[in-house]
Amino acid sequence: MESPVTTVPAVLILLGPPGAGKGTQARMLEDRFGLVQLSTGDLLRAAVAAGTEAGRAAKAVMEAGSLVSDDIVIAILRDRLGEPDVAKGVILDGFPRTTVQAEALDTLLSETGQRINAAVSLDVDDAAMVARISGRFTCGSCGEGYHDTYKRPAVEGVCDKCGGTQMKRRADDKAETVGQRLEAYHAQTAPLIAYYANKGVLKSVDAMGDIDAIAGALATIVREAMD
Ligand code: AMP
Repeated sequence: MESPVTTVPAVLILLGPPGAGKGTQARMLEDRFGLVQLSTGDLLRAAVAAGTEAGRAAKAVMEAGSLVSDDIVIAILRDRLGEPDVAKGVILDGFPRTTVQAEALDTLLSETGQRINAAVSLDVDDAAMVARISGRFTCGSCGEGYHDTYKRPAVEGVCDKCGGTQMKRRADDKAETVGQRLEAYHAQTAPLIAYYANKGVLKSVDAMGDIDAIAGALATIVREAMD
């Protein structure tokens, strides 16, 4: 028996190619609005690390930079939406990534009479994404994001936020894999921009500039969308 989906006061979707800053901005929105970031990438990486059946099926696909099957991802998201903390409202980061997933999300939300407040497209130049992605790393303790060029920790190897010293780089952030991930985005995910425009919930933000300026633009959209 599937667990019921928790009723959520706000549902925000961040759309954009790998490297657009979805994760960074989702974490900033969590802090600012008390919302919960739901990253299917993070959930899948946790499943891979835990060696679950879904994780074993997803591992090679993720390493190749392709999309994991809709069935696996939808099941993972559905379970996560059944947990009580999502009652604060959610920011979907990296989901949906296909039309099938978008339709599944609509069905899940309709079970509890909920709606999508806004789907925000983070608009970026593809050419810049490879450099952005291949330089990034995170703190293994708290997840704070860093970058070799744009955001180094104040003390080399030490997290500014929590003092952790285990920095991690994602296996799929290698330059060879990034091209495949961008291709998957354009073929399978970019059509969702039109999907949400048709529903009247699409917003766009120029996501090439300063992280704080982008966060400010997003906060304005989120505030209006949650009214
Ligand atoms: P991300 O952390 O969002 O960049 O996702 C990392 C990888 O996880 C992707 O390249 C895909 O292989 C997989 N993944 C994450 N979210 C999804 C999704 N919604 N649908 C299919 N695959 C996904």
